[in-house]
Amino acid sequence: MPFTLIHMGPGILIKSLLQGRFSLMVFGWTQIVMDIQSLIVLISGEGHLHGFTHTFIGAILIALLAALTGKYLSELGLKILRISKSDNPTSIVWWVVFLSAFIGSFSHVLLDSIMHWDVEPFFPFTLDNHFLGLTSVSTLYKVCLYSGLVGAAIYYGINWRLKREAK
Ligand SMILES: [Zn+2]
Repeated sequence: MPFTLIHMGPGILIKSLLQGRFSLMVFGWTQIVMDIQSLIVLISGEGHLHGFTHTFIGAILIALLAALTGKYLSELGLKILRISKSDNPTSIVWWVVFLSAFIGSFSHVLLDSIMHWDVEPFFPFTLDNHFLGLTSVSTLYKVCLYSGLVGAAIYYGINWRLKREAK
């Protein structure tokens, strides 16, 4: 937070590499669930902006929550967007749901740890954030943006080839 969207860049790259073994929809839902707490703090002006949700322990709980709620939401999303494969209409298997949610929440904590001074990823073991400033925020934004672009290119490239070979 407050730029939930930039987390989607690496997600698109992972999607392009794992294809059907990764749900970008569940990953995206996890990004939203992660930042609900931060959004409440921003609006109310009270509390720790990146509190317990932005720790690795919190990420485990968020992933479980996002997986359990995200499976059905994502299946509904796929149905509405009509991007399901015809042989397997809109169903996402559980291990893919959990994998996507866990990659989502852990990558979120990692990225936010580099960007935000108030993130304490290893709470309650230590309040130190070793990731802070690992790279500049503008570089990090660029990495996220470019990984999304590269991911989209790989994703469509692979699908284009598969379609051509299937003919
Ligand atoms: Zn966040």
